[in-house]
Amino acid sequence: MSKRIFLFILFIGFSSFIANAANGNKITKIVLDAGHGGKDAGARGQFSSEKDVTLAIAMRLGKMINDSMKGVQVLYTRTADVYPTLPERHEIANKNKGDVFISIHINSTPYRKNRELVGYKTVKKGKRKVKQPIYKVTYDHVTKASGTESYVLGLHRNSQKEGAIGEYTEEVAEEPGLLNENDPMTAIIIAQYSQAFLSRSVSLGNHIQSQFVNQGRASRGVMQKGLEVLAGSAMPGVLVECGYINNPEEEVYLNSERGVYEVAQAIYRGIKAYKMETERQ
Ligand SMILES: [Zn+2]
Repeated sequence: MSKRIFLFILFIGFSSFIANAANGNKITKIVLDAGHGGKDAGARGQFSSEKDVTLAIAMRLGKMINDSMKGVQVLYTRTADVYPTLPERHEIANKNKGDVFISIHINSTPYRKNRELVGYKTVKKGKRKVKQPIYKVTYDHVTKASGTESYVLGLHRNSQKEGAIGEYTEEVAEEPGLLNENDPMTAIIIAQYSQAFLSRSVSLGNHIQSQFVNQGRASRGVMQKGLEVLAGSAMPGVLVECGYINNPEEEVYLNSERGVYEVAQAIYRGIKAYKMETERQ
């Protein structure tokens, strides 16, 4: 994503943030993003692909919200085995003015290369015969790593964002009275926005993680990362890694009806706690 588009999205987010603040921080639209899809299978386990697990969880979670969270609309970035690009996913979230963005993913560790000595062969080097080892190379993709973690967008580009607001004169002009790049207050407002955005995302991540802990799952905590999927969505958001697809036990769990239900329920309860907290502010 270009800097301009990023800043434009940030600006839109800022507008909706102000609008949100004005209507009492009500959370009425939740965007669910099932990671990967279509040509992009994501991480692979022994019998399943990340794209299918993320879709099952997103659909289950959407149903829970529709059934039990009154006055909240669910927006999906995908509901089938298709691949929307990241900008397309952001557009769905931003155009519909989502209040929360939840991106669902399944973790995986990298392949490990193993070299095993299986024998020797004798090769001729000039007149001499030389013994050379024979190795069998295998790639091990099974891990003992387990548990869940949530990511929020790191804001290490704060000054870049603030400095470039001046480029958006046109957009600013379209929303008269909202922001004025010549007004020193604008920089302060933008900085406050960035901070509020991040702290809300961290709070959402913490609520989701503590629900996983309540279920007895391992929590690897809430972390910051410069993730494009979160950068482009102009609302607080988290990326949830729901378990390891290359941990055989977790793969079975994540593909089971119970696993999908429990993961969806942890995220649902996390959103609910976040919603109550935010709407009280
Ligand atoms: Zn993923």
